[in-house]
Amino acid sequence: MEFYRVEPTAVTSWRMAVLMGANSRTYKFALGSALLDLARRGCEEASLTELAVPYAMQLVQRAGRYPQAPAGSVSSAADFLTVLHEESSTSLRHGAPTSRLLDAAVASMPQMVMKKFHNLRGVGEVGHRFYELRGLGSSRRLSLTPQMLAVARHEALLRLELDARWSIVEACFDAELGRGLLGSGVVVSADGERLLTPARRVALAGAREALIGFQHGRCFYCAEPITLDVAAVHVDHVYPFALMQSGVWEGPDLNGVWNLVVACPPCNLRKSSRRLVPAK
Ligand SMILES: [Zn+2]
Repeated sequence: MEFYRVEPTAVTSWRMAVLMGANSRTYKFALGSALLDLARRGCEEASLTELAVPYAMQLVQRAGRYPQAPAGSVSSAADFLTVLHEESSTSLRHGAPTSRLLDAAVASMPQMVMKKFHNLRGVGEVGHRFYELRGLGSSRRLSLTPQMLAVARHEALLRLELDARWSIVEACFDAELGRGLLGSGVVVSADGERLLTPARRVALAGAREALIGFQHGRCFYCAEPITLDVAAVHVDHVYPFALMQSGVWEGPDLNGVWNLVVACPPCNLRKSSRRLVPAK
């Protein structure tokens, strides 16, 4: 909420809704991605079915690689994820969701994900609304708000962040790790490019893409917006990694995500010139 007080924009609300908070499934990411799709094309009005097409296809593509819910949480034949798995190979082959999958998405989206999208656990709703639903049953229609269209102007960066966060959450489900994953174990690769799972050290997501959203798109040191080429942004250790290499550090892994921030190139240069490497 502190981020919102400092910068009460629609993009801040979007990041809070999409990137923060607990996830019991990944539907929120699929909805966020589908909303970006419609908004980028300038759609102000759509049917629920039009929204369900990119929503279902994103899930179909993801579900083939990683689970979209914690192990053991998919129980009934009516569960949307059950339908998703049964219809995924045909949908992928045709490049479009099957009618059974589309029907299941349209039927479940309002209650399962659309009602909760703006909610933040424990603190109510984010400060902006991105869509309104009107009508009943299959004739339901969706209008995208001007705030959603404003958010979509940053579509490229926000999609990278969303995809990175999605990859982390599904890898947590896969590794049967709880919510503590980010705090406890995710580390960065030696080149600072990728976030890795703690146990198997498998690449989860691009480090920059995952971190930029959590810093609400600003440099950790000077707070200037990061809107330029994402590849130019540095992933930086707050406590220098050289401490660990020096052998004097007795704390936790300095490659852990808790110690990582993104910094603009000038700040990174300033910091490295001041960096003190303790003598052995
Ligand atoms: Zn900076």
